[in-house]
Order: sequence, then C-alpha cells, then structure tokens
Amino acid sequence: NSGDSDDDRSIFQLEQDEELRIEVDCPKNEVVTVELRTGMAEIFGTEMVPNNQYRFHTGAKIAIFTFQGCTIVVRGKMDIQPYTSKETPMIMYLNAHAALEDMRKAAENDTANQKENGNRGPVVMVVGPSDVGKSTLCRLLANYAVRMGRRPISVDLDVGQGAISVPGSIGAILIERPASIEEGFSQNAPLVYHYGHKTPGHNSPLYNRLVSRMADVVRERLSANKKSEASGVIINTCGWVRGEGYNQIKHTAQAFEVDVIIVLDQERVYNDLVRDMPSFVKVIWLPKSGGVVERSTEQRQIARDQRVKQYFYGPTGNLFPHSFEVRFSELKEKIYKIGAPALPDSCMPLGMKSEDNQTKLVAVQLTTRDLLNHVVSVSFASATEDLIMTNIAGFICITDVNMDEQKVTILSPQPRPLPDTLLLLSDIQYVDSS
Ligand code: ATP
Repeated sequence: NSGDSDDDRSIFQLEQDEELRIEVDCPKNEVVTVELRTGMAEIFGTEMVPNNQYRFHTGAKIAIFTFQGCTIVVRGKMDIQPYTSKETPMIMYLNAHAALEDMRKAAENDTANQKENGNRGPVVMVVGPSDVGKSTLCRLLANYAVRMGRRPISVDLDVGQGAISVPGSIGAILIERPASIEEGFSQNAPLVYHYGHKTPGHNSPLYNRLVSRMADVVRERLSANKKSEASGVIINTCGWVRGEGYNQIKHTAQAFEVDVIIVLDQERVYNDLVRDMPSFVKVIWLPKSGGVVERSTEQRQIARDQRVKQYFYGPTGNLFPHSFEVRFSELKEKIYKIGAPALPDSCMPLGMKSEDNQTKLVAVQLTTRDLLNHVVSVSFASATEDLIMTNIAGFICITDVNMDEQKVTILSPQPRPLPDTLLLLSDIQYVDSS
C-alpha cells in the first residue's frame, strides 16, 4: 500500500478507517510536507484542507486518519518510511467522544432541573503511563467537541511534556476552534500556574495545591460561561501512575470533581481506579494506539527544549523575542523559588510539617549557578503572600549572568522593562542558541 515513490515523494492510498503514520527524522532544517489529494482525512481530530501543504519538522510523529478513504502525498527525506495501518483504536475513541457528547446534551437540557452540577458538562480526565497517547487523545476529544460547536476547557497537568505553555507549569485554555495541524491549539490567554520542576514527584505538596487551585479557577470560569459549562473539561495528566503518582491522580479527580476517567493501556490502573473511585465516576479503559512511538529520556529532553524554544520564537520561528540586560538591584526582593530543602518533621519548628517547607517561598541567590539558563515565570502577583497561588503572565529566560557587572541578560517576549510584578525561578533550563 506504500504507493508510488518518485525521489523523495510518496503517494499513499488509504482505505476507510485506515491511518498513515509518519515519523519525521530528517536532518535539522529540513521538513516533510504532507498533502491531501483526494477524499477526506484528519490529523488528531483536525480536518485536513485538500491540496494544502502541511509542514512538519524533525521529531514530529503524526497519524493521518481517514473515515472515508483518501490519497495522501508525502514529500521529504526520511529514514523511517511512513506506513499505513488498519489497526487503530480510532473508532473506540470516537465512541468515547459520542458518549461525552451525550453527557453535554443532557447537561444542556438539565438547566430546568437546577440540580447541583446539573448543567455542567462532563469533566473527563485521561490517565495512563508515559507514551500511550494521552495528550493525543485529549487533543482529539477537544477537536471533536469544538467541531460539534462546543467550547470545552482543556487542562494540561503534565509538567514534563505539557502542550499548554512551557514545561514546569500547568495550564488551561478555552478551546474555541480546532487545533492547527502544524501549531496545535491557539494559546490565547492561557491560565498558567508555576510549578518549577519537570516531574510531579519533585514537590508533590506543591503540585497538589496548584491542581486544587487550577480546579477552583476552572470551575469559576465554567460557571461564568454557559456554553463552556455544558461543554465540560478535558484534563491531560502526567504519565506517573504508581505510588505517589497514583495518589496525585486521585487528588486531581477529587479536585476537579471528574465525571469520567479514561485509562489508556494499563489495566492495573483501571482496576485500581474502579475500586477507589466513588460509583458516580465512570472509569473507562481504552487501548493505546500502536502508532504512539516511545520516547527516550533524551528525546523527552529535546521535546522540552523545543517547547521552550517555541514559546519564545513561535511554533514556526515566526516570533522575535527581545534580549536585554537587567541589573541585580532590579531583581532584589523580586525573584523567588518555591520550596526550601526538605527537613524531617522532627527538625521542623513546633506545629509545622516538612510539607509546609515545600510550599514556602525562598528568595533566590543572584549567582551564576542559581540563575544561568533558567526559565523564570513572570507572575501577575506583586505581593509575596499571593505569589504561589497567582497565575503567570509569561516567561523569561536568563541567558547570561555577569557577576562582575552585577547584571543578567534575559530573553523575553516583551521589550524592556520587566513588568513590575514578582518572578518565580524554575528548575527548567534552556540554552538559547538561536
Ligand atoms: P507523555 O505521558 O510522555 O506526555 P502521552 O501518553 O501523552 O505521552 P502523546 O504525547 O499523546 O503520548 O504521544 C506520543 C507521541 O506519539 C506524539 O509525538 C504523538 O504525536 C505520537 N502519536 C500519537 N498517536 C499516534 C499515531 N496513531 N500514529 C503515530 N504517532 C502517534
């Protein structure tokens, strides 16, 4: 089925319910383009426009799925050849969407009943280990919902590989149109909280507090917008499903008052959740797609770097960040991190737990070691009391530290000066080589 090949052009004929999987592994600065010639097809729930050239860069892994059959032209140098597959869970994913859509209709019609949460659409959470396609399923469900005229809120709690904002933070956005095939969902006015680490286990008390905060604010936003309220929420989670990770899943379910949990791939997690969740929470198991490619630690690091790069330079290099110097004196009493080193409970002052230490603000030392290449969140808060629980306006990166002259160079989406609000230092580092 791999069709004609002419130099670096291949033509694929896809039958009904088949998908074409492409892993872009061309050298840097080269691209692979994909074009729909005949029929209809979609990429993770976004319809392809016929005869449009979609461009993908190294590292992209995509699946072109067709319900009707289609012809696809792929151009570009690739070592890993694209292949078609009939074995996809797409019909099951579509059924999950249909079930959620029924719940949205019921929520709309429930307005008259006025029962608690009666007019709130489904809050659905997708869980499972790493590399099972959680983010992809969330994108698919959000795309299908918005194509039905819904306006769901998409929440991303994956601090390692998040699709909203940058690694080390959690985010939520209102979905108003399908994701762009090349650039993902529009990042207009996301709600973002600073966490500061790439794994949720690094500071579990902080992670749980931020999740609770996010859940409260999302609930407020839903109740202010009838259309979104009936559309519900789609939550993507981290791939950490064991031990404390499992407790975090339970905490998230409670905080967001989820109605549906979709477990991808792992039956053990499914069984545990069926046992541990109250009976009004529907727990559903779905298989992972054979197309999801496992990523090594190194590939995850590259993906994290790319996310940060995209934040500053735009998904297609279409943004031009500013670089300017800031004196240490301007950063004094302005830059903090969350969490003092952990102490055993026995060493804590009377009445305090070590957990309190992990959600404490600590002033950051202005040294090369502590600052260089670190991503820094720019908070909306200007008082330290509100800093941890206030959302983030954006990010900067410290690209140089000059101890002799007592100043740093920063990369910023906005021109100088820095806003007059507080800053939160992240563990996440990014080396700006652009
Ligand atoms: P993590 O927990 O690490 O964030 P995840 O479970 O969220 O992983 P995804 O990010 O959804 O997994 O998928 C991993 C990669 O596989 C992505 O690059 C995605 O584009 C790709 N992918 C997903 N589904 C398919 C498919 N059917 N065919 C080809 N590639 C796919």
